[in-house]
Amino acid sequence: MTAPNTHRARLAARAAANGYPLLALAPHLAVMAGADAWGRYTTRASTDDIRRGIQALAARPALPIATPATATMTTTTEERRQPVPTQPKHSISHSQIEQFTQCPRRWKLTKIDRVPQAPVAALCLGDAVHQAIEADGTAWITTQKRLSYPQLIHTFTQALDTRLAHDDPTGLIADEQRFQLKRKGMAALHAYVEHVQARYQPLAVETPFDFPLPDDVEDGAATGWRFTGRIDAVTRPDGGPGTIVDWKVLGKPWNAGDEHGKEQACAYLLAEQVRETLDAPASRVTFITLPVVATPDGEGYACVPDARPTTRTSEQVRMYARHVASVAGQIEQACASGDFPARVGPLCGWCGCLGACSDGMRWLREHGRAPAVPVMRAADGNDMTA
Ligand code: SF4
Repeated sequence: MTAPNTHRARLAARAAANGYPLLALAPHLAVMAGADAWGRYTTRASTDDIRRGIQALAARPALPIATPATATMTTTTEERRQPVPTQPKHSISHSQIEQFTQCPRRWKLTKIDRVPQAPVAALCLGDAVHQAIEADGTAWITTQKRLSYPQLIHTFTQALDTRLAHDDPTGLIADEQRFQLKRKGMAALHAYVEHVQARYQPLAVETPFDFPLPDDVEDGAATGWRFTGRIDAVTRPDGGPGTIVDWKVLGKPWNAGDEHGKEQACAYLLAEQVRETLDAPASRVTFITLPVVATPDGEGYACVPDARPTTRTSEQVRMYARHVASVAGQIEQACASGDFPARVGPLCGWCGCLGACSDGMRWLREHGRAPAVPVMRAADGNDMTA
């Protein structure tokens, strides 16, 4: 059985377990179609949109697929969060590779020391929008029906509140900023419904992968490592090879061609090569960007959905696999020596671990820069900001 069938079976089992026996049959009847031919559109969360969204929240409509069941059928916020591995040396994801490459000290503070991290509003927003679109994708797979805008806003708001409560229990993100996050989410989902939803017909959503690195790319010092991650969605346009879909909620549009430089595409295609997924494995990644920007009059937010397809050659994917193995080897060496160098620079101002990093704080002071995120006190009570 291929992975999508397994995925559908999992959805069906969960639907049945959650009291939706008819939904349990639906995945086996689903006919999937193509997905990535979106053009550029502009939409804007007007005052009416905001009012409709707030009315929808107040009404809290009962969903055809009840939200709690939907959440358990797919992925909860806790499941989505990258688990901190008990043996961090032997499992690695693309985001960990990026983090270690940018700053080994930050990787250590995050994965080993597990210091308290500052909440990042953009991550909370992106996660909540992802969850709403994921719920819509699941509804399509299981029932061939779509969630309405109010239902998406309902799911989004619940997900955002849950994520903020987890990441920011002390309220470092101000109420006004939280309100603006909701307005941005409404703009993104309004654009999704208006211009993307009808053409987005996923074959699978939120599909995890976890596989050992191929033997022939393993670094000499690093063996036995697994590569893990999660794919937002897979579509199969016109019954041909699959397309991996990755949603991006952005603060500004990508530049032309940015998609061709994203290593994340290599990570997904590596996963496709290794695991048994589709009859015709995905050969392309389409980043669907939802850039949410303030309108010039400051009255609302504009969102221009943009599909950015990209491919990689076999050699590029192979080079990425070698890169994964190389970083795994560097992590092994760092863990053995205890040396996790701090790569100080402007990005320290956005580092969630800044409060636990005296090197980063010192660099910002010496360069007259202020942190762009709340600074959390170190777990041992030392105030690195002093
Ligand atoms: S503050 Fe800068 S140097 Fe310190 S962990 Fe963060 S990114 Fe690295």
